Amino acid sequence: MSEDFYDVLGVSRDASEDEIKDAYRKKATEYHPDVSDDPDAEEKFKKIKKAKEVLTDEEQRQAYDRLGHERFEQADKRGGFDGGAGNGRRGAGGPFGGMGGMGGGGSDFEDFINQFFGGGGGRGRSQSNRPQQGQDLQTRLTVDLEDAYEGISKELTYTRPEHCSDCDGSGHPPDADVRTCPACNGQGQQTTVQQTALGRVQQTQTCRRCGGEGELYDEECSTCNGDGIVRAEKTVSVDIPAGIRDGQKVRYDGGGAPGANGGPPGDLIIEIRIRDHEQFERDGDNLYLQHAISFPQAVFGATVEVPTLDGTEDLSVPSGTQSGETFTVDGAGMPRTRRRGHGDLHVQVQVVTPDDLNAEQREALEAFAEAGGEEVEVNEGFFEKLRNTF
Ligand SMILES: [Zn+2]
Ligand SMILES: [Zn+2]
Repeated sequence: MSEDFYDVLGVSRDASEDEIKDAYRKKATEYHPDVSDDPDAEEKFKKIKKAKEVLTDEEQRQAYDRLGHERFEQADKRGGFDGGAGNGRRGAGGPFGGMGGMGGGGSDFEDFINQFFGGGGGRGRSQSNRPQQGQDLQTRLTVDLEDAYEGISKELTYTRPEHCSDCDGSGHPPDADVRTCPACNGQGQQTTVQQTALGRVQQTQTCRRCGGEGELYDEECSTCNGDGIVRAEKTVSVDIPAGIRDGQKVRYDGGGAPGANGGPPGDLIIEIRIRDHEQFERDGDNLYLQHAISFPQAVFGATVEVPTLDGTEDLSVPSGTQSGETFTVDGAGMPRTRRRGHGDLHVQVQVVTPDDLNAEQREALEAFAEAGGEEVEVNEGFFEKLRNTF
């Protein structure tokens, strides 16, 4: 598709406004992302819409014809031919022409506008109709420690405001009759003059009647009740990086509220919560685990298999290990997010006291005690007591 707005709509350079609107309706139906199979439909639809906006706005069209596509686009990017209704439209010759500047901030773009439109219109309004990014939305997502270990892509369903697709966010059916807002005479803004001790003070504010659009429609979109916005359930796939910590946030670009005047949507900010794990405790990149070993393993030393978040690791326990001693398995902790590698796994061993000895084991243990010079009088509570000390 050519970039030129006339080509985009397939109309001649001297096409009337009605011809342009007709062409837009046909193209829009063809390329509406909801109905078109064309993979580039959304992009094309945006171009069609933009072309229609510019070419049905007398002042914008004049500027477009005069500047050519490229220079117009540059100027547009700098600040705001975009935003459709009200921006310079009908304004320059109206009773408020030339007064809008009171509210304006004096940007390059406004100077630019004034250069081409003789100082009328644009100012002030170009502020409110400038493309604005939508708001960020916040939500939470809870994952398992295993997910945080591996990194995971998780589906998340949430509700967000979206442009109403039935009216393409305009709030009215595309064929609704339109008239100039009588309250602001199509300016989109109203100027009030107050007499104060210091003299006359002019104030310019967005027209309440038309919400700054400068025009009123005889019909509202029934889907969104004229808001142009509907609440829609949205499912997105969120990439959670390996090693993420509880409370960290992930940004999903473009998942927020829609922008105004063609501005980009905000983002979705997802706070990640991590469920407590049955076995592992986490501190930063390190993991902590309690692991049982037998009395002979503690006495003689052994290689024991300990669980990790993605399998098992061998841990060498030296002879003479005391219950409660901690050993480290290097690199078996959480992945580090800012540098390579993993944290460590710290294993605290618990020596398990046997409580169901058979006769042979009992005899051997008594012999063990006596060999150490201990008087052994075995009673029922002995093992029970021993166990309770751990
Ligand atoms: Zn609607
Ligand atoms: Zn108005």
